[in-house]
Amino acid sequence: MKYALVTGGSRGIGRAVCIQLAEMGYPVVINYASNEAAALETKRLVEEKGVTAELLPFDVASVEEVDKAIDSWNEQHPNDYIALLVNNAGIRSDAVMVFMEDQQWNDVLGISLNGFFFVTRKLLKNMISKRFGRIVNIVSLSGLSGLPGQTNYSAAKAAVIGATKALAKEVASRKITVNAVAPGYIATDMTQDLDEKALKSHIPAGRFGTPEEVAAVVGFLASDQAAYITGDVISINGGLYT
Ligand code: NAP
Repeated sequence: MKYALVTGGSRGIGRAVCIQLAEMGYPVVINYASNEAAALETKRLVEEKGVTAELLPFDVASVEEVDKAIDSWNEQHPNDYIALLVNNAGIRSDAVMVFMEDQQWNDVLGISLNGFFFVTRKLLKNMISKRFGRIVNIVSLSGLSGLPGQTNYSAAKAAVIGATKALAKEVASRKITVNAVAPGYIATDMTQDLDEKALKSHIPAGRFGTPEEVAAVVGFLASDQAAYITGDVISINGGLYT
């Protein structure tokens, strides 16, 4: 059986992606860092779609935790493999560079960039041997255009875009696609502290996007119809940056 793993699946965009993939019939493995209550709610919403949902908490920034959790999942699923990976876990820790602390830089790169590397490397072997895989990396408009106050976040997301393009070329012959989705402002916990009213006036579409709109793009990239799209970055930002 082919499973989907969504990192940071407990809330926001990750939760909407879990539900979208469940609607497409994928059993879903829901990763999260610490918010078990939110992860259980995602599990309930996935199960409502009639598919299996499993919780798999680990810190994507810790190679030990990633390897341990995925090894144990593999042991418990000798006849299954994770065919679809959505690298979605991410945080913001904004500061202008002169005031940015080491920890802010390391935390953001640790989760978005190292997390992408640790989880993807671990799951690639099975995708390669089974000759099928779908990898979707949630990046950001910030990694394409650069945003002041986000040198850490822009660097992490731009690095994942580079890795997406390189990895796509490495594994295309094995029927594995690797793409990135770059959202603009999406209404989730991550953007709760932003001045939505002020920002909206700069967005041509005049509003923040929804997690479900991002999830629909991920669903398309995961589908058979998208088999010939790889190494690409799809923006979803209401016209803010093209
Ligand atoms: P969110 O609502 O803040 O949710 C973040 C998710 O990531 C949660 O499930 C959280 O788990 C998980 N997470 C955080 N650190 C983790 C770690 N070390 N290991 C495993 N999981 C971890 O964020 P969101 O807005 O949905 O963002 C999802 C992705 O989209 C991120 O990569 C973000 O950079 C990107 N993005 C968001 C926007 C936006 O406007 N919202 C725009 C562009 C890109 P817990 O629940 O356990 O804390």
